[in-house]
Amino acid sequence: MQFMNQSFGGIASNLFSVKQSIAEAARAAKRNPDEIRLIAVSKTHSHEAVAAAIEAGHQDFGESTTQEALAKISRLANPSITWHFIGHLQTNKAKFIPGNFSWLHSLDSLELARRLSRRAQELSANLNILIEVNVTGDPKKHGVSPESLLDFVEKFSKENLPALSLRGLMTIGPYEAPEQERCRCFARLRELRDTCRERFALPGFTELSMGMSGDYPEAIKEGATMVRVGTAIFGERDYLRK
Ligand SMILES: *Cc1c(COP(=O)(O)O)cnc(C)c1O
Repeated sequence: MQFMNQSFGGIASNLFSVKQSIAEAARAAKRNPDEIRLIAVSKTHSHEAVAAAIEAGHQDFGESTTQEALAKISRLANPSITWHFIGHLQTNKAKFIPGNFSWLHSLDSLELARRLSRRAQELSANLNILIEVNVTGDPKKHGVSPESLLDFVEKFSKENLPALSLRGLMTIGPYEAPEQERCRCFARLRELRDTCRERFALPGFTELSMGMSGDYPEAIKEGATMVRVGTAIFGERDYLRK
């Protein structure tokens, strides 16, 4: 069994330490730690691991593939959990998101937005949306380019998408780059959010989903409102997945 040697007992203390470092990073940046939502990224980890984190009082979980996520969501069947879809989503999988997830962090096309909205309307559900921005221009990453973001938001606003709430931006930082470069990437995302919010008068466009196990303190310094942390909570993944 894949998960036999995993110690779920460590999860509660890992969560505690991550929350402490979030609070420290927030204080150092003169920010209120309550403004930062920790999303425990449970991809590749078992539903028992998620259950251990729930037991420790955690509610926000992130997954990056529909098949794996849906299995865990139905297995846990816990309405107090807030699920976040954080991976790249193909348009043909859009139908699985509304009703199962409260947040999608990875919007990168209008066609995806249309399908999400249609499905959400069918279910009378609402979906919070973050646009993924490929700040570093890494060809292996998904997301809209910083240069095309304003155009994308403008087009999104002109669509009729009543079931979607556009809430902010998400990026994956260059976590292997020097600290200064990582901070620059996160600062750029913050500037882009501020520009969008002003230009399109979007009062609810407040969120910045940025920072993972290797770089969340820098992301918090630059204004992250959501950090997506997997390894530091659940341990190493058995196989690597984006
Ligand atoms: C896997 C993943 C994370 C978590 O990464 P860790 O380094 O394990 O903290 C965060 N964001 C996205 C988009 C991911 O795919």
